[in-house]
Amino acid sequence: MALITRDVRNDFPVLDRKTASGEPLAFLDNAASAQRPNAVIDAMSDCYRRYYANVHRGIHTLSEESTAAYEAARETTREFMNARSTREVIFTAGTTAAINLVAHSWGNQFVQKDDVILLTIAEHHANIVPWHQLSERVGCRVEFLPLQDDFTIDDAVVKERLETLRPKLFAFASSSNVLGTNFPVQRWTKLAHEFDAKVLVDAAQAAPHQAIDVQQWDAEFVVFSGHKACGPSGIGVLYGKEALLDAMPAFLGGGGMIDKVTTTGFTPHHLPEKFEAGTPPIVEAIGLAAALKYLQGVGFENIRQHEHALCEMADNAFREIEGVEIIGPTPDKKTGIVSFAIDGVHAHDIAQWLDTRGIAVRAGHHCAMPLHESLGKTATARASFYLYNTTDEVERLVAAVKEVREKFARTGRRRRRREVTS
Ligand code: PLP
Repeated sequence: MALITRDVRNDFPVLDRKTASGEPLAFLDNAASAQRPNAVIDAMSDCYRRYYANVHRGIHTLSEESTAAYEAARETTREFMNARSTREVIFTAGTTAAINLVAHSWGNQFVQKDDVILLTIAEHHANIVPWHQLSERVGCRVEFLPLQDDFTIDDAVVKERLETLRPKLFAFASSSNVLGTNFPVQRWTKLAHEFDAKVLVDAAQAAPHQAIDVQQWDAEFVVFSGHKACGPSGIGVLYGKEALLDAMPAFLGGGGMIDKVTTTGFTPHHLPEKFEAGTPPIVEAIGLAAALKYLQGVGFENIRQHEHALCEMADNAFREIEGVEIIGPTPDKKTGIVSFAIDGVHAHDIAQWLDTRGIAVRAGHHCAMPLHESLGKTATARASFYLYNTTDEVERLVAAVKEVREKFARTGRRRRRREVTS
């Protein structure tokens, strides 16, 4: 089974390398950050080589060309998300920066003491800490929706919490970066609106894998990062409904975001520049646009089917290995993520052993400490698949996990024997 052809793999030069152990690289750490195809590397180096200059400022050829490319990248991003207007597309440094922007600008203006911000327990720290910080500033409360035993959350529970807590904002990830669970964005947004809550969707784990339709989702804010979707690091996107962005005060102050500055004050620029103070991530925006076009070219349905097949293969195989516990729902309910724990083996030891076999996975709390605490775990290992991974790599992963199990079970037995005889 090879749903996506070798051609895709050939687009990613880094995949040809070997790791420090001399093994061919199997890169299964895509939920943390993905690799870049030639299309992205070339678009960025073309800008640096031929027409790079600061944008929106100079009246000269290079600046005009850079500005045109930067604004074309915004249009590509608008189209990718199906936003109504490029005024609703703000380039930020990433998902974290985008959520912080909302927490400061919208939060400081519209959230008051004792108001509630509702999150799920499965959130990344990027969608928790900015709300704790807002709470420190204005005295609001941060509340969490718990998970059910199957790692999902029932609509009925969401509805009950919305009805009881009447939050100002319901902020949740469209997919959990640990469990992989896909949450029903459109349904939950509709429910939240019934109780007058605004909605922020953390789409960091969605944008790499699916076409986003912000009009269909209907959330007030949607955020994601470029680097998880084959784009460069240092760029992300904040989508906001125009009327709301208009009503929000500027966040960072400086060049680019003003219409006029005097010795006594300033008037902000119109959208989207109002929220883009300073020199923006110009080349990164160009790289992001190339990445989105690349993914669209491969086709999101092809990507989804491919990842699902790999995820199912790993998930099924892991369930057969004694002592391996999968932390997440069944593959039909998640994106291409398989987080797992091995009885008696620390997640860091798992990742280190897999690295000796050329396999890159993530180990730790994955910036989701409240989730891990609620699961009674300090750390998990996570394999995350993307369009360029292969069934061969999944087989290598499964074989290496069996080795870990064997090796550490033996070490454990030896240790126990020593303990008994000493
Ligand atoms: N939200 C989710 C669900 C994530 O997976 C991540 C990154 O792992 C983030 C937010 C933070 O993204 P960034 O580090 O690009 O700002």
